[in-house]
Amino acid sequence: MRFGRLATAVSALALASVMTACGSTQKTADVQATQSAGGNSGALVGVTMPTKSSERWIHDGDNVKASLEKLGYKVDLQYAENDIPTQVNQLENQITKGAKLLVIASIDGTALTTQLQEAADKHIPVIAYDRLIRNTPNVDYYATFDNFKVGVQQATSLLVGLKLKNEDGSDGAAKGPFNVELFAGSPDDNNATFFFNGAMSVLQPYIDKGTLKVKSGQKDFKTVAILRWDPATAQKRMEDILTKTYSGGDKVDGVLSPYDGLSIGILSALKSNGYGTSGQPYPIVTGQDGELASVKSIIAGEQFSTIYKDTRQLADVTVKMADAVLKGGKPEVNNTKDYDNGNKVVPSYLLDSVIVYKTNYQKILVDSGYYTQSQLG
Ligand code: BGC
Repeated sequence: MRFGRLATAVSALALASVMTACGSTQKTADVQATQSAGGNSGALVGVTMPTKSSERWIHDGDNVKASLEKLGYKVDLQYAENDIPTQVNQLENQITKGAKLLVIASIDGTALTTQLQEAADKHIPVIAYDRLIRNTPNVDYYATFDNFKVGVQQATSLLVGLKLKNEDGSDGAAKGPFNVELFAGSPDDNNATFFFNGAMSVLQPYIDKGTLKVKSGQKDFKTVAILRWDPATAQKRMEDILTKTYSGGDKVDGVLSPYDGLSIGILSALKSNGYGTSGQPYPIVTGQDGELASVKSIIAGEQFSTIYKDTRQLADVTVKMADAVLKGGKPEVNNTKDYDNGNKVVPSYLLDSVIVYKTNYQKILVDSGYYTQSQLG
C-alpha cells in the first residue's frame, strides 16, 4: 500500500516538476527540454555495494539492478569485498564510463570525498544506499531504514528474550539482574552508531537501575564496535570476554548483537565455552537482516531474534528516486532532519523494520514471500 502511494506521489511530483518547468525559469525549461529529448533514457547507472560476504548485499545489488533495467537503464553493478581502494576504483571507472547517476552503499562513509567531487564536477547525482556517505556536500539523497529504530528493536527483543518485557511491550515477569554483553557494528559505517544509540536508549535505564549488568565493563561504542562487521572479530571478542570475565562461574544471560553475521560468530564462541546444552542454554542473542543461517538458528532455538529489513522495498525506493532524478524531477523523501552527514542534512527516505522471533518468522518472512518454507528446512 505504502508503495502504491509512493509511486503515485513520485508521479505527481514528476508531473508537478514538468508543469513548473513549463512556466518557470529558462534554466528549468532547458533541463526539461533535455529530459524530454530523452537525455537520460537508457543511461548508465553505477551501483556499488560493499561485499558479497553478507547475503543481504547480494539481494540488494540484484534487486536494484533488475529494477533499473526494467526501466530501460543500463547498470554497472560492483562489489568491493569490503576493500576501500577497490570501491574507490570502481567509482572512478563508473564516472569514466559515463554513468549518469551513482547509487553507493559505502564501505567507509568518509573515504569517497575525491570521487564524489569528481562526480559533482560532472553533474552526476549521487544516492547513498542504506549507509550514509559522510563529510561531503556531494550526496543528493539517502534511501535507508530507520536505523535508530532498528537499534531500539534490537534492544527491545533482548528485553523480551530476558522476559523483562513481553512482545506486546508490557512489562514481563522477570526481575533480573541479568549479565549482558554489548556489540556494535563497524565504526566507519554511520549506521552502526545509529543502531547502537537506538539500542542504548532502551538498555541504559535498565543498566542504571542495575537490572542489566555489563559484567565486562565494556560499554562505550569504540570498545564494542567490530571493524567491517567481521564475524571472526566478534567471535574472538566474545571468547576474550568469556575468558576474562566469566571463567569464575558467572553466566552470560544476553548479548546485544547488531548483525546476524556477528551473532553467528558470538554463538560459536559461546558454544566452545559450553553454552547451548539443556543444562546451560545459550544466552539471548539478537541480530539483524534476517539472513538464512540466522533464521534457521532462530527456528532451532539458538539465536533469539533478528531484525527484518525488506531489501526489496529499499531497492524499490532507491530506483524510484534514481528514475525521478534522471528525469529531472524531485524524488519523494520522508525525513529531512535526522541524517546530517557532517556537511549537510541529506534528504532521506526511511523504511520500517520488523522484529522477528521464533513465534512470528512464518508470518513475517514466509507469508511475505521473502523466503520459502523449503529454504528454511
Ligand atoms: C546495514 C545492516 C548490515 C550491516 C552489515 C549495515 O550498514 O544497515 O543491514 O547488517 O551493514 O552488513
